[in-house]
Amino acid sequence: MILLTGATGYIGSHIWIELLACSFQVVGVDNLSNSSLDRLGEISSISGKSPIFIEGDIRDKLLLTSIFSKYPITHVIHLAGLKDVGESMVKQRQYLDVNVGGLRNLLEIMREHNCLKIVFSSSAAVYGESAPSPISEQSIPAPSNYYGETKLEGEELLAEESNRVPAINSVSLRYFNVAGSHPSGLLFDNVLASSNSLFSEITKVLIGENNSLSIYGDDWGTRDGTCIRDYLHVSDLAKGHLNALKLLDGAADGSFTLNLGSGVGQTVYEVVSAYEGIAGRKIPWKVVSRRVGDVGVSFADTRLCTQVMGWSPKKTLSDICIDNYRTCSK
Ligand code: NAD
Repeated sequence: MILLTGATGYIGSHIWIELLACSFQVVGVDNLSNSSLDRLGEISSISGKSPIFIEGDIRDKLLLTSIFSKYPITHVIHLAGLKDVGESMVKQRQYLDVNVGGLRNLLEIMREHNCLKIVFSSSAAVYGESAPSPISEQSIPAPSNYYGETKLEGEELLAEESNRVPAINSVSLRYFNVAGSHPSGLLFDNVLASSNSLFSEITKVLIGENNSLSIYGDDWGTRDGTCIRDYLHVSDLAKGHLNALKLLDGAADGSFTLNLGSGVGQTVYEVVSAYEGIAGRKIPWKVVSRRVGDVGVSFADTRLCTQVMGWSPKKTLSDICIDNYRTCSK
């Protein structure tokens, strides 16, 4: 059985659907700080199955102990965490407590219950500003924000665990820019609450929350002057976690760190143009000054992930726009 933390969040709910579709037994846990119980009904109507859910905090050892005592958990997929880069700079203690302390707790209780396999949501934020694209896993991590530091610390904790006896084996997946939503239109990112990704910002314009899209600089030295990023459809990302589980169940032991991205860099103007084609309307935008800490180009080298896990993304930028646009009427 799989314990999925952060289960009702944006990515967690998509992974939950993929797991149920492949007949995995799953218990989801979430403290609902950035999601709601509505997700359970949506997961149930998409999957046709009743999700097992426990509301609670991963920092609560008693709760984790009771979950591991009640259910025969063999693997953990750990997503619960705080993800707002800007907020992480001003709420460092909270980010440390949840993102690092929460993982540490989980590992302690896993060990006590002989659960020795975990997939961890890391982030391309561990790479920082100077890594040349395509960014390979060999690039030296140098996070430029506190959020990235907490993810790197999480990876380091997992590397230590793989050297203990018995070892907890792990796959840390460094997500690039996750976007899109489930084709049912029922699951999507909580854009108003947290994210300031390009797709969230486009959504805010399309639903009338903002008047125009801010483009942070058009003098980046890229093919059209705007920033290049790697956008990965959330369904492809979710499927990658199934490959990670297979990797953990295979012969290989240790701690793996792999990029999960599309391997393709798109400029802001290219995304806006593709989106306008799908939406059949103009997206008003204005160029504003660069943000501190931004980089011009960031996209993944995905060769190691394909080689080690046999995973590669199937969805396109157009699929992301279509699925994202569907949720704008929600
Ligand atoms: P999300 O906020 O939608 O989901 C995270 C979930 O964790 C939420 O439902 C929240 O309620 C829950 N949570 C937060 N603190 C908790 C705690 N202490 N105990 C229990 N539950 C808690 O975010 P998401 O986009 O689904 O991201 C999931 C994971 O992936 C996060 O760890 C994030 O850092 C990582 N990640 C996301 C992206 C992205 O583009 N969305 C990119 C890189 C990494």
